[in-house]
Amino acid sequence: KEFCQKFPKIELHAHLNGSLNEDILRQLGCSDTSIEKYQKLTNILNKTTRTLEECFDLFKVAHNATKTQENLYLAAQSVIRDFDKENTIYLELRTTPRSEEDMSKEEYIETVVRAIKDCKNVCSILVKLILSIDRSQDAQTARESLDVILKMKEKHPEIIKGLDLSGNPSVGNFDVNLFEKARRSGLKISIHCAEVKNDEEVKKILEFVPDRLGHCVFLHPKHNGSAENWNIYLEKKIPIECCLTSNITCGIIEKYEAHHIGELIESKLPFSICTDDKGVFRTTLSNEYEQVMKHFDVSPKRLYQFVCETVKQCFASDDEKRLLLVQLQDYYQRVL
Ligand code: IMP
Repeated sequence: KEFCQKFPKIELHAHLNGSLNEDILRQLGCSDTSIEKYQKLTNILNKTTRTLEECFDLFKVAHNATKTQENLYLAAQSVIRDFDKENTIYLELRTTPRSEEDMSKEEYIETVVRAIKDCKNVCSILVKLILSIDRSQDAQTARESLDVILKMKEKHPEIIKGLDLSGNPSVGNFDVNLFEKARRSGLKISIHCAEVKNDEEVKKILEFVPDRLGHCVFLHPKHNGSAENWNIYLEKKIPIECCLTSNITCGIIEKYEAHHIGELIESKLPFSICTDDKGVFRTTLSNEYEQVMKHFDVSPKRLYQFVCETVKQCFASDDEKRLLLVQLQDYYQRVL
């Protein structure tokens, strides 16, 4: 446990509003009843699984807490500090820009960027931003969101690095034109893929060849994926962001040992170990590393190699990646 806590970690898949801890939710003025409901649903001691609908109820609690620029700023800083405290050296935070009564989507992005920049003064963690398109949005709204995102990327190219497609996987679809436009404009692409069985959409996503994929639960034939899609995947070898506790808590994977990260490790396919929503799923990045070591018989040296591989998958600049590798090598020489 302590080993994973101290280990220099890389987080590539963390949703801002799903990553808020209870203290910050309370500080941002969540009512007692909403906190009580949150606690009830996140209490993994009494409840080991919850439906996707219940997860989306939890996101609503967080969204209510981040409706103003001031609260959003504090929320983003709190999440960055949490990751920094457990020795995460690099974080790609992702969030869906929302417009609220007193905040436009542009201001939403500006606020999160400001929180990331200001954290440099108090944290040593390097943070980049991925902006998400919610798949339940209609095509016109998604296009408008992308326009705002591209405008903000021009303004903050050193922070805004990628575009993600997320949201309730049973709603909406993957619009390839939108993501092609984003890619042409220089954004890296990470897409939530195969969270539910939907072979047709998975094929479309794989053929687009995103820079990274999120989850991919129903991709390997052993996990009910189609042989055709698995063969396409093997040709492309796109890195997969694995979120073990999230998949188990949502009930789509039975137990840690059954997670598809096992097949990726065995076949030497690229992956990263991530939290998804550490508040909603009551986890930490250290805990995710610990579960992988424990259930897949991963030695410290092997873990080190996995994390060095993860650096290659991240959306930072080449110079930043080199510095991250130096930090990892330094740790290796001192401790392993
Ligand atoms: P936000 O984008 O910062 O508001 O973070 C919460 C949002 O991320 C949710 O409302 C979902 O749209 C998205 N999200 C978080 N976890 C998942 C997941 O496991 N699958 C799909 N979408 C997710």
